[in-house]
Amino acid sequence: KGITPKIIDESAHPIYLKTIPKKIKYHVGNLKKTWILESDIIVISPGISSNKPILKQAKKLGINVISDIELFSREVTVPIIAITGTNGKSTVATIVKKIAKRAGYNVSLCGNIGYPVLDTLEKKFNLHVIEISSFQLEHTFCLKPKIAVILNITHDHINRYPNGFKEYKKIKLSIYKQAEICINNNFNILDIPIKTSKQWISFGSIKSDYYILHHKNNTFLCNKGKKIINTNQMLLYGQHNYQNILAVLAIADSMTFPRSHTMDIIRTFSGLPHRLQIINTHKGICCINDSKSTNVSSVKAALTCLRSKGTIWLLLGGDKKNANFHVLKKYLKNMKVRIYCFGKDGIYLSKIYSKKSIYTPTLKQAVSLISKKVVSGDTVLLSPGCSSLDQFPNFEERGNQFIQFVRDLI
Ligand code: ADP
Repeated sequence: KGITPKIIDESAHPIYLKTIPKKIKYHVGNLKKTWILESDIIVISPGISSNKPILKQAKKLGINVISDIELFSREVTVPIIAITGTNGKSTVATIVKKIAKRAGYNVSLCGNIGYPVLDTLEKKFNLHVIEISSFQLEHTFCLKPKIAVILNITHDHINRYPNGFKEYKKIKLSIYKQAEICINNNFNILDIPIKTSKQWISFGSIKSDYYILHHKNNTFLCNKGKKIINTNQMLLYGQHNYQNILAVLAIADSMTFPRSHTMDIIRTFSGLPHRLQIINTHKGICCINDSKSTNVSSVKAALTCLRSKGTIWLLLGGDKKNANFHVLKKYLKNMKVRIYCFGKDGIYLSKIYSKKSIYTPTLKQAVSLISKKVVSGDTVLLSPGCSSLDQFPNFEERGNQFIQFVRDLI
C-alpha cells in the first residue's frame, strides 16, 4: 500500500525483534512520544490500554487509533462470522470453524485465537470465523460481519474500563452495529440490545429461538419446538457448554451449513485444552485443568457442572483484575469445598472465603499441600478466575505447569 510503518514495543526485549525487516524502523522499551504524536494512524495491540496518557493525547490531536481488526475490516472482502462474549468465545469459534470446514469452506479461525486477522488477508480463505475481545472491539469501526454473536456479558476486565461494566457492555454490543444477522443470548438479560430492522436470532431462555429443555432427567437442545439433540449424546458437559452449543446451532443454521455436518461435530467435540480438561483420574481422584478460567463467571460455570461425591479442592488465584469475588460466596456456601488461593491476589481471595480457604504463595505449593489431603472421590480443580500474568507467561503455561505438578506427584 506504500505505507512505511514504524513499530513500538514497551518491552525492552520483544521476542520477535529479529523478524522485523531491516528497512522498518522500530523502538523498544517505552512508547516513544515523538513517533506517536507525529503518526497518521496508530494500530494498537489489544494488550495496551488506550487510557495511557500518550494515547489519549494522540486521540485529542485527531490521530486515528485503531485495532488490527479495524485495519483488516477496511481491506477484507470475504464473509465474516464475528464472535464475542465474556466467556466461551474460543470454544464456539473453534466448533463453528470445524463445521464450516466440513461443509466445504476454506475457512480461517482468527483474531483472538488462531491466525492474527491481518495474516489471513494474503491467503485464499472464503470465510473467516473471528474471535474478538472487547479490547479489539474498542478500536474497531468498519467491521461488517455477515453474522455477529455475543455469547454472554458478565463482569471482567473492569481494571481496564474506568467507567466500569457499563462501558465494557457498550463495547461488546458494538459488534452488532453493522452486522447482517445478529445472534444474542436472552438468558443473560443484560445482553438484550435495542433491536433494529436487522435479522435477530436468540438463544438461551425457553422463549428464544434456540433453547434448553429439561424433560424426564434428560436435557435437550431445541429449536422452534423441535428437539435437536439430547445432551447425553455430546462429549461437552455443563449448562454453560449447552448454551455455547445453542449459539453454534444458531450460527450454523444461519449459514445454512448442512445439519448432518453440524451434528457430527457437536457430538464429537470434546473441548479445548485448559477448559475443564480432565487431566487425570488416579485412585478415584479427578484432576481438572480449567486454567483458561480468568473471571468469576467461568469459576461459577466450573463449580456448577462438577458432580463430585467428595471434596472439591479449588485452586483460585492470580491477578483478579479488580473483580468482585464476593459473588462466588453463595455458590461455595453449601459446597464441600476447600479453597487454595495463590499468586498476586491470593491473600485477598483467601480472606473472602476465610472459613474454607488458605493462602499459599504459588500454585505448586498449593498442589503439593492438597496432594497430602485428597482422598478417593475428591476433585482437584484449577479454575483460577484470575489472569495468569502475575506468575506465568500465559494461561497455557499455568495449565501446563499444573498438569506437570499433578503428574510429578502421581
Ligand atoms: P473465551 O475464549 O471467551 O475465554 P473459552 O471457550 O476459552 O472462552 O473458555 C474460557 C473459560 O470460560 C473456561 O474456563 C470455560 O470453561 C468457561 N466457559 C466457556 N463457555 C462459557 C460460558 N458460556 N459461560 C461461562 N463460562 C464459560
